[in-house]
Amino acid sequence: MADGDSTRSVRAGRPAPEQYTPELPGPTFAAHFHLSGEATGPYTYGRDANPTWTLLEDAISELEGGGTTTVFSSGMAAVSAAMLSLVASGDTVVMPDDCYQTTRALRDRLESYGVRVRMAPTADDAQLALVEGARLVWLETPSNPGLDVCDIARIAAAAHDAGALVAVDNTLATPFGQRVLDLGADLAVASDTKSLTGHGDLLLGHVTARDPELAAAVRTWRKTVGAIPGPMEAWLAHRSLATLGLRLDRQTANALALATALRNDPLVTGLRYPGLASDPAHAVASRQMRRFGCVVSFTLPSRDVADRFLRALRLVGEATSFGSVHSTAERRARWGGDDVPPGFIRFSCGIEDADDLVADVLMALDAVR
Ligand SMILES: *Cc1c(COP(=O)(O)O)cnc(C)c1O
Repeated sequence: MADGDSTRSVRAGRPAPEQYTPELPGPTFAAHFHLSGEATGPYTYGRDANPTWTLLEDAISELEGGGTTTVFSSGMAAVSAAMLSLVASGDTVVMPDDCYQTTRALRDRLESYGVRVRMAPTADDAQLALVEGARLVWLETPSNPGLDVCDIARIAAAAHDAGALVAVDNTLATPFGQRVLDLGADLAVASDTKSLTGHGDLLLGHVTARDPELAAAVRTWRKTVGAIPGPMEAWLAHRSLATLGLRLDRQTANALALATALRNDPLVTGLRYPGLASDPAHAVASRQMRRFGCVVSFTLPSRDVADRFLRALRLVGEATSFGSVHSTAERRARWGGDDVPPGFIRFSCGIEDADDLVADVLMALDAVR
């Protein structure tokens, strides 16, 4: 029998036991390494490789279910590496029109390089109709912030038939929510700033690919643009992986408890959580996800009600991002750029006790009724 998620994550990427060495070696701070004679690796110069990255990359590959991982200084460094290292002038990219807004903002850059971009929503697998002639099909599921879900295996099969590569931004779910490479994606991409590392204290991203040529292209891109993580961030991220299963189990349970409590609240409309049996995305999410993630979204009647609700919360910080052990929430429309109503709340469930979290949210709703 294969080891379970937490058994794997607590061991992932840790070196074989060696007398008098730590279980996880501390961060290696080095711009260059002793290197006499031939300039061959593994460790030559600090922009190419670092032993702290290597351990983390092996760990993430293990969680993704194989392949080669390249870690980056942020999620967007990983997203742009996957996008820009694999497409060239004259190629076509298919993107969701409801994905993370900075990913969407790459459209102008791609078009300025002579790449054609086609867009369709995540829901109802609408991108399926656009894959013919594409070089790269980009998916993000569940989408941020709308929480729509598409069928990865179905779109990947059609994209491959059309000769296209498939990348999935798996930030929200993490590999413990869905193993996108097993579902047919060529590249698993993520912002590890969010749920994978889960403490809200670092920025990081990664790309994992099973095909050695794709992995090498992404790796070369990192070296070329220098979008490298600091060794301290990489080490903290690796340390955080040990608790990934524990954190996600609690966050997922909290998110389901919160969504269930909000279901019939008269102040709440547009409630979305793919783990909720009544959610429009539940059927397809259940087929491909093992955990539904920590984000719940819903809409309050107005900007004013939403702002007052956020201020009334006692246990939930008003902040952007998601995936932290601390619950956070924000009125998403304050940023502009997302097609959401003024009272739209993106709520990220932490690891607090479910009863406390739900009581706090209901208290804040009562305060603005
Ligand atoms: C946050 C986010 C990113 C960007 O990640 P950074 O670490 O902030 O650069 C990309 N995709 C999704 C889905 C995200 O939520």
